[in-house]
Amino acid sequence: MKTIHTQLLVIGGGLAGFAAALEAAERGVDVLLLEKLEATGGSSAMSGGCLAFAGTDLQAANGVVDSAELLQRDLLEVGNHENDAEVVQAYVDNQLDTYYWLRGHGVEFSPVIEASSGQSVPRVHTVDPADTVRQLVSKCRANGRVTVMTSTKALRLLRDSETSPVKGVIAEEPEGEFILLARDGVLLACGGFGQNSEMVHRFAPHYVNAVFVGGDGNVGDGLRMAWKLGADLRDMAYIKGTYGKHPVDMQNHHSCLAVYKGAIAVNQDGQRFVDESISYKLLGDAVMSQPYHTSFQIFDQPIFESGDDRVRILDFGRRLEEGLLIKADTLEALARMIEVPHDALRQTLDAYNLGVDNGEDPAFGRKALVHHHGRLCRIETGPFYAYPSTAAVFGTYCGLRVDASMRVIDVFDAPIPGLYAAGEVMGGFHGGAYMTGSALGKAVVFGRVAARTMITARTAEAEVAGLA
Ligand SMILES: Cc1cc2nc3c(=O)[nH]c(=O)nc-3n(C[C@H](O)[C@H](O)[C@H](O)COP(=O)(O)OP(=O)(O)OC[C@H]3O[C@@H](n4cnc5c(N)ncnc54)[C@H](O)[C@@H]3O)c2cc1C
Repeated sequence: MKTIHTQLLVIGGGLAGFAAALEAAERGVDVLLLEKLEATGGSSAMSGGCLAFAGTDLQAANGVVDSAELLQRDLLEVGNHENDAEVVQAYVDNQLDTYYWLRGHGVEFSPVIEASSGQSVPRVHTVDPADTVRQLVSKCRANGRVTVMTSTKALRLLRDSETSPVKGVIAEEPEGEFILLARDGVLLACGGFGQNSEMVHRFAPHYVNAVFVGGDGNVGDGLRMAWKLGADLRDMAYIKGTYGKHPVDMQNHHSCLAVYKGAIAVNQDGQRFVDESISYKLLGDAVMSQPYHTSFQIFDQPIFESGDDRVRILDFGRRLEEGLLIKADTLEALARMIEVPHDALRQTLDAYNLGVDNGEDPAFGRKALVHHHGRLCRIETGPFYAYPSTAAVFGTYCGLRVDASMRVIDVFDAPIPGLYAAGEVMGGFHGGAYMTGSALGKAVVFGRVAARTMITARTAEAEVAGLA
């Protein structure tokens, strides 16, 4: 079998993989990156492009006062303190530098306007996601130290014994299998397992009826390769779908979150079932227990007009153009169109509006539009709108246990030498739920952290051996 040698091996060509590859290459290290599909990008390229950063110039430009401390508090609060505090700290310590690093590599961010799920202040920094991956790929190419092999899949991790470092992988390209040996270790950046319904079902049976959207290659290869070596797991109990996905349309795979602009969510019986301001992951849980696992976001013309065509999840106009948003002049007509009993819907809306007037929502205690932000508004001015909404599993947000340096930790709390993980393949960061932008954010931030760790570990080894 042929053998290829490299310094640092990255498995997976999404944002985590390319951030790691570029970081390492810029530090003078040769990198080989494997991508099993013909094209790079993974879930990163098809995502909503929202990244969570705190303390940026774009926030300041819009008068948003944010800080690392507030970001940390929010991440832990949203995660219900189930997150690994050290991993959260690593994100907080490295995020601002990563934002400027991306900017320095030509990535363009839209102005920061909206606070979203889990955010005390607006911190969604939006990019064109496919373009961002392309930007990092082209920087890797220009650097000259990164070799990208597409249509090449990592099959198994290699090490000489149970205690020796991971030294590479067996990989498969169209011509056959080969051995790839990596001097500085192996980084798993091969995404989650959202496209492996059997595996999702094993950990999250309640999501069996959800819609699954994500990179085609994300079937849990990284998890299985690392399990074989005894890797531990984090957050598996918290696989969640994202609320707001149209149940049948597969053209626009993004969620629509009119609830965060003041819509209510009702089930097929016309009843609300949740405080709509909570994390869209928790809303995902809530909708899965409703009849037919579906619901409607109901809103009126002023809420429609408060949409924002720069933010995919708030672009109501586009949903209308796509024929996904149902519109009627009266509530009664809307109820008829969505086959919800009109009397029940009317009662639900009247009770909600009364709660808005009285400053309290007796049914579910909703106090804000999203997280702790925004005043509730009456829903009363036609035309009225309904957006059919279920939950989509966009990512798995759980996986390999890592330490703050992205070393993979085994079931007996020891690092597996030579093995690192970053991005969606890792667990521990989100804990119980998820803040908007923190998955793409963690891909880039932790990809870079992992690369630095790998290089530092190698340098330290070389020093001990008197080679540095
Ligand atoms: C529709 C959608 C919208 C989203 N919106 C947002 C958002 O706005 N903000 C946010 O924070 N998060 C969002 N997410 C989640 C986010 O996109 C992902 O968590 C993130 O992109 C993961 O990055 P990654 O680099 O770890 O994985 P990916 O980008 O998925 O890359 C992993 C790559 O590894 C490859 N691979 C897998 N196995 C192997 C193997 N054995 N050998 C070689 N290659 C392999 C895959 O083919 C893939 O290309 C969204 C996800 C989706 C699907």
